[in-house]
Amino acid sequence: TAALDIQNLHKTYHNGFTALQGINLRVEQGDFFALLGANGAGKSTTIGIISSLVNKTSGQVSIFGYDLDTQREQAKAQIGLVPQEFNFNIFEPVEEIIANQGGFYGIPRKQAFERAASLLNQLGLWDKRREQARNLSGGMKRRLMIARALVHQPRLLILDEPTAGVDIEIRRSMWDFLAQLNANGTTIILTTHYLEEAESLCRNIGIIDRGELIENTSMKQLLNRL
Ligand code: ADP
Ligand code: ADP
Repeated sequence: TAALDIQNLHKTYHNGFTALQGINLRVEQGDFFALLGANGAGKSTTIGIISSLVNKTSGQVSIFGYDLDTQREQAKAQIGLVPQEFNFNIFEPVEEIIANQGGFYGIPRKQAFERAASLLNQLGLWDKRREQARNLSGGMKRRLMIARALVHQPRLLILDEPTAGVDIEIRRSMWDFLAQLNANGTTIILTTHYLEEAESLCRNIGIIDRGELIENTSMKQLLNRL
C-alpha cells in the first residue's frame, strides 16, 4: 500500500471557486515528497483534504490503505500535520503544548511528556520546555509545531511551507532533522515554493498549477531537464 493515494480529487469551495480539478497522486511509503506550486495553485487545499481539515467535493483519498471517507479516524492517526499558521496557545508552556496534543491521540500523560522531552531535545528546544510559547522566536515556534505534530509518532508527516520566514541557519538544522526523520522511516510530504528546499531534501516531486498536477517525477529527472 502507498502512504498516500489520491484519485481524481476535486474541490470546489462554497463561493463556487474550483481549487482542485482532478488530482491523481501516489506517494510511496518512505518517500520524501515535495508538492510545489505558485501561490494559489492548490497546495494547501490538497493538504487540508488529506488531513481532514477541508472537505473534498469528490474523489478518493487513502492513507496507508485507510480510506478517508470510511476509515477517517484510522487515516487521521497515521498523519502528523504542520500547518503554515501557528495555532497553539501562546500562553501555554512549550512541553505542555506537545504533551496535550498526545492526549488527543490517547497517549498516557507520562508517556506524552517523555515524548515531548525527546522531541524538544532533538529539535534544540530542550532549554525552552518550560517557557510560554509566546517567548519563542519565529524559528522556535516553527520547530514547536513540528514537535507537536510528531508526538503520536505518525507514519506520514505533512508540512505546509515549513521554513517560510525562517532564517538560513535554522532552516538548515530543520532540514537535517527532517532528513534524519525520513531516514528512520517516516514518510514526509512538504509544500514549498523554494525549489532549493525541495532539491536538497526530496526524492520525488509534484508540481501543481491551477488545481492540476502538471508534473510528477523524481527530483533527479527534473534537475536533468532544467
Ligand atoms: P468549504 O467549501 O470547504 O466548506 P468554505 O467555502 O465554507 O469552505 O470556506 C471556509 C472558510 O474559508 C470561510 O471562513 C471563508 O471565509 C474562508 N475563505 C474564503 N475564501 C478564501 C480564500 N480565497 N482563501 C482562504 N480562505 C478563504
Ligand atoms: P496554495 O496553498 O497553493 O497557495 P490554496 O490551496 O491555499 O493554494 O488555494 C487555492 C485556491 O483556492 C486559491 O485561489 C485560493 O484563493 C482559493 N481558496 C482557498 N481557500 C478557499 C476558501 N475557503 N474559499 C474559497 N476559495 C478558497
